[in-house]
Amino acid sequence: MASLREKLKALEELQQIDLESHEVRTGLAGLPARKAVVEAKVLEARKAYDAHKALLESNERERRQIETLLAMERDKVKKWEGRLGEIKTPREYAALSREIDIAKKTNESQSEQSRALTDAALQLRLQLEQKGEALSDAEDATEASLAALEQERIAAEATLEGLTGRRAGAVALVDPELLGKYENIRKRRAGVAVSPVVGSTCKGCHRNIPPQLSIVLQRVDSIETCPNCHRIIYSAAAVNPGVPPPSP
Ligand SMILES: [Zn+2]
Repeated sequence: MASLREKLKALEELQQIDLESHEVRTGLAGLPARKAVVEAKVLEARKAYDAHKALLESNERERRQIETLLAMERDKVKKWEGRLGEIKTPREYAALSREIDIAKKTNESQSEQSRALTDAALQLRLQLEQKGEALSDAEDATEASLAALEQERIAAEATLEGLTGRRAGAVALVDPELLGKYENIRKRRAGVAVSPVVGSTCKGCHRNIPPQLSIVLQRVDSIETCPNCHRIIYSAAAVNPGVPPPSP
């Protein structure tokens, strides 16, 4: 059977382990959100690239349509010009000539539009190339960040496993009743159930305990709780003699 001093030391150890475990678990719980932030960056770059690619494709589609129509319209003008020689009356000749002029003007403006689209496409292609590079950089950075986060997860899991093993060792030294008390206080007191008393100050609530209780603590033969914060308290000097007291 462990002595009371050993039990208190085990509680102290348990407290340390539980606080560390809590911190590690909090870190693990935060990993998905951090992963999402990293992934959002590459998604954003991909969205910008895709949107720009769609612009370029729409430009090319429009230009192809114009070129197809233009080829047909030019053929039509050629046919009409061929037909001019066969026309018998000046009136018909004038009418067809006018049609040809109008068609040529329309074709010229369509041809200009096609050239403008070609110029715009040149610019769009350059910008797309830049966005492609930005995307590839973002993908590389994301891959590296995700790998680092995964390493962090693996390390945290390993730490947690070690802490779980250590916890079992500490729990074995504490009887079930005391362990139950510890767990109860831990739930109600923000995870801290055990506090050393340094001088006459409880390190859990930073208030002084009555002088009589200080004397009782020196004896290390009973489990006492702080009258103010209700945590299990022990005299740091009596339980861990020769160890410098914990800093505030
Ligand atoms: Zn206290």
